[in-house]
Amino acid sequence: MAETENVQPMEEDAEVETFAFQAEIAQLMSLIINTFYSNKEIFLRELISNSSDALDKIRYESLTDPSKLDSEKSLNIRIVPNKEEKTLTLTDTGIGMTKADLINNLGTIAKSGTKAFMEALQAGADISMIGQFGVGFYSAYLVADKVVVTSKHNDDECYTWESSAGGSFTIRTCSDDTIKRGTQIVLHFKEDQADYLEEKRIKEIVKKHSQFIGYPIILVCSKQRDKEVSDDEEEEEEEKKDEEEDPDKPKIEDLDEDEEAEKKKEKKKKTIKENYLEDEELNKTKPLWTRNPDDISTEEYGEFYKSLTNDWEDHLAVKHFSVEGQLEFRALLFVPKRAPFDLFENKKKKNNIKLYVRRVFIMDNCEEIMPEYLNFVKGVVDSEDLPLNISREMLQQSKILKVIRKNIVKKCMELFNDIADDKDNYKKFYEQFSKNLKLGIHEDSTNRAKLAEHLRYFTSHSGDEMSGLKDYVSRMKENQTQIYYITGESKDQVNNSAFVERVKKRGFEVIYMTEPIDEYCVQQLKEYDGKTLVSVTKEGLELPEDEEQKKKREEQKSKFENLCTVMKEILDKKVEKVVVSNRLVTSPCCIVTSQYGWTANMERIMKAQALRDSSTMGYMAAKKHLEINPDHTVMETLRQKADADKNDKSVKDLVMLLFETSLLSSGFSLDDPHVHAARIHRMIKLGLGIDDDGTTEEATADEDLPPLEGDDEEDSSRMEEVD
Ligand code: ADP
Repeated sequence: MAETENVQPMEEDAEVETFAFQAEIAQLMSLIINTFYSNKEIFLRELISNSSDALDKIRYESLTDPSKLDSEKSLNIRIVPNKEEKTLTLTDTGIGMTKADLINNLGTIAKSGTKAFMEALQAGADISMIGQFGVGFYSAYLVADKVVVTSKHNDDECYTWESSAGGSFTIRTCSDDTIKRGTQIVLHFKEDQADYLEEKRIKEIVKKHSQFIGYPIILVCSKQRDKEVSDDEEEEEEEKKDEEEDPDKPKIEDLDEDEEAEKKKEKKKKTIKENYLEDEELNKTKPLWTRNPDDISTEEYGEFYKSLTNDWEDHLAVKHFSVEGQLEFRALLFVPKRAPFDLFENKKKKNNIKLYVRRVFIMDNCEEIMPEYLNFVKGVVDSEDLPLNISREMLQQSKILKVIRKNIVKKCMELFNDIADDKDNYKKFYEQFSKNLKLGIHEDSTNRAKLAEHLRYFTSHSGDEMSGLKDYVSRMKENQTQIYYITGESKDQVNNSAFVERVKKRGFEVIYMTEPIDEYCVQQLKEYDGKTLVSVTKEGLELPEDEEQKKKREEQKSKFENLCTVMKEILDKKVEKVVVSNRLVTSPCCIVTSQYGWTANMERIMKAQALRDSSTMGYMAAKKHLEINPDHTVMETLRQKADADKNDKSVKDLVMLLFETSLLSSGFSLDDPHVHAARIHRMIKLGLGIDDDGTTEEATADEDLPPLEGDDEEDSSRMEEVD
């Protein structure tokens, strides 16, 4: 039995202990109670879904230990409305809750969903979404002002939890032994909610939200039937009534004998109305996946999807199929319309694919059946071949499961193809799940090529519409052999970057990859349709050139050779090399990174990661190459200066400035921004014609500046003086 986590009762008498709700839960409850909301019927769906989960759990345990069911053999959910008492009672024969479970699960341990749900509500979400956030139980307070939960787990005594909200709940032992195993929830309805006690209404709600629950949902209905009674019996009943109404009325025994004989003569059989209770099963539908897809309507799929996932909206797409041959299974796979709020929250148990073996539920979220990147696909898999008593450990080894998984992933690819047939739908899908597809490209080498078909990006030519790689290739220029891309922070930023300039100017299209995950994805996606993907921010970008262009570049290379050497000497270890560029049009220079190191964008992403190991920064940090633009007047003038005197001091300062500015414009951050700022200030002074040896004010201000790279000699002389 799990211990309660540091929760002490507020008060304690012999039998009843009082506990405070965890603060966020208390807040959530008052929100539920006080929010005006008309679609309250969802409370029933939530409670039935909890019962169904609890039944799943005990059934799963019993597969390995059948004695777990000894306490109660039947697995079902019963609903009993009571109009006189204004209560609705839901009883399941599921796993039940121990005392600790009751305290932890119903009030003292908040889940991430508690806060997330309240935030969602504030942002305009609907209360019916509650199930998705894992706090469905509290929806009971939409209709009830008091809730009493009595629960019996095989490992503990029976306990009763009770709360009328208001910040606290009580726990007491339950002496009544009607519950052998499972949970009973009694809802004491608010005055104006009696409508939910009508059988017709309950049937309607169960049909709408819970018809695909895998256990019988039984409504205890009160009915009337005709009953034949002899007058004796009727009289007895009448007498009883009379007595209640008028105790002074003479009874038959009081009449004298003649009269009595007279009466007896009149006697004959009569029929009266009799009230009785009858169980009615509300969900007799066959499991949907076992039926023929041709006979299933879109609405039925929608209802099934909603009851499976607690989603409030229909699915976006569905695939219903069976596999026969070396092994046999049926499956139903759904793609939701939205990603859940916690799609990439690792620790949370996911409720994605339910595994059944020959119609018997085995487990929620069978991880082995789906790769992680497809964790947004929901559904059911029903195997004919797995053994019923399979454990999680056995599943990891199971060859059968591996084959099932391969088939399911294949079907998911088909499902995405289906979605792509409708452009609008695909857009919705891509907005929600593009991260998953990209993760898939990173992780699943078998399906990489198929997944690549589904990528969509903005490009230098695509305008406001995203474009696929296939479209890109169809637009490629005749002499183009490579696919050009750039990674960066945003569409605007990359669109204006110096790297894209020439590529665009020469008429080639550049793909804009602006999500952090693109960096990871493109590392694995090295080619598409036989064409290599080339980053325009990395070294070695060779744009197709004709003979004349080639010749011109060779000439420029030798012309600028000296400047390149001088610049490399000045920049020293800051760059790997300085070369003449063929990618620049308007900027004097830019920083490119080596083929295998990080890009500027990746360096930015890595620096932002809080738990990054700083040692990786060292060897992975982008290896920088400075590329200069030979057609730019700044570079041309600098070349002339350097050629004239390679020790020209002003050249040093200008090179540093150019380097730092290119770092910024190429998307890097500066290690020492203040040094850069100081350099710029000096330039400003120059521009304003302020002499460094001018006013005393200026002189003192200058002393505050850190020593600049170009001031090395002065620095050392100053040091010598100090020595
Ligand atoms: P969720 O069911 O999404 O986890 P809830 O707020 O609906 O969130 O329920 C909280 C927890 O209380 C459940 O996870 C479960 O452990 C327990 N619980 C609720 N209803 C039952 C029930 N009928 N039988 C057993 N346990 C239950």
